[in-house]
Amino acid sequence: MSGSTLAIHGGTPVRSHYLPYGKQVIDEADIESVVQVLQSDFITTGPAIEQFEAEIARFTGAKYAVAFTSGTAALHGACYAAGIGAGHEVITTPMTFAASANCILYQGATPVFADIDPLTYNLDPKRVKEKITEHTKAIIPVHFTGQPAELDEIHTIARDNNLVVIEDAAHALGAQYKSKSIGSISDMTMFSFHPVKHITTGEGGMITTNNPLYYEKLLQFRTHGITRDQRRLTENHGPWYYEMQFLGFNYRLTDIQASLGSSQLKKIGSFIEKRKQLAEFYTKELSSIEEIVLPHQLSYMDSSWHLYILKLQLSKLTAGRKEIFQALHKENIGVNVHYIPVYLHPYYESLGFQKGICPVAESCYEQFITLPLYAGMDDHDAADVVDAVKKVISHYSIHSRRE
Ligand SMILES: *Cc1c(COP(=O)(O)O)cnc(C)c1O
Repeated sequence: MSGSTLAIHGGTPVRSHYLPYGKQVIDEADIESVVQVLQSDFITTGPAIEQFEAEIARFTGAKYAVAFTSGTAALHGACYAAGIGAGHEVITTPMTFAASANCILYQGATPVFADIDPLTYNLDPKRVKEKITEHTKAIIPVHFTGQPAELDEIHTIARDNNLVVIEDAAHALGAQYKSKSIGSISDMTMFSFHPVKHITTGEGGMITTNNPLYYEKLLQFRTHGITRDQRRLTENHGPWYYEMQFLGFNYRLTDIQASLGSSQLKKIGSFIEKRKQLAEFYTKELSSIEEIVLPHQLSYMDSSWHLYILKLQLSKLTAGRKEIFQALHKENIGVNVHYIPVYLHPYYESLGFQKGICPVAESCYEQFITLPLYAGMDDHDAADVVDAVKKVISHYSIHSRRE
């Protein structure tokens, strides 16, 4: 296999059909759960929402959970509940999806990017500390690829500076930090149910928290800022009466989606197990390739393996990341790149952010390639990914002899 002509040069691809990098796994029980809701009295904000919230709270070990229309909406809600507003700075990582920082802008505050650790690619607590000012209000760590960030150090910094910690755990449903479940640890934690994540509701998200005040604010924020709670009304005109007390949004998940979420959550154990097995297989099969660096896992982290990322050692390769990416695509392996550092996007540049803020993240971005990883992959799919990586990397290795 390693010696054969690359598909990009006219050879036969490793696979005959395309393997995506991520994809949902939907079974008959999932479909049935949605049909049941469609035949019931409530298709939105009915019993399925509360049930799904209770199940996520139980699974993560949090006291409360509040469902939102997306992970992004959930982050927006968390920033509101944390009291983040104009004049505040919020520290986050650049190695993430734009939503982790956009939620700060939604609230009129300023995102501050701290650089990542070169081994784990997670927020580096030393760099976070350097970014603290009198305006800092919160820290939003992201559990990149599913391996938790350094939460103890981050919490120490937060305690010393009176900051709120909101975890972006879009990658980390089912992950553990020092044997504690992600979702039970910080002030608030966000999960996403986008189809490439561990479980899906189509679109959807959740905030978990142990704090009843945050819980109340999150509930009200996702429904226009409206409350019907007798204890909190300032007047009462009659049984129909409700009050809009601040500017909220309609961020309510439907019962159709929540029911799918509950059905998906029943399979979370096997989904994570499958992802772990695939990651172990990649690590075993690829560890001898000196041109790539495999994901580094810390002993006290238990990753839920949302992504498996290779870091190319470009000095040992005769082609750049783009050629290698394209060559793998031609082998029908749907590799991806996570992430373009957030502040390099044109919108962030228009706000004044410039290249060079986080050199480690920028250099990682140049070298990263994400391999396919999802619970619906079988052994053949995984073997194809390994074969294609070996084929392409050996072709472009500086050691390879070319005719
Ligand atoms: C998916 C994701 C989000 C956003 O979640 P949506 O449900 O797509 O809105 C935020 N942060 C990270 C790191 C993500 O991967």
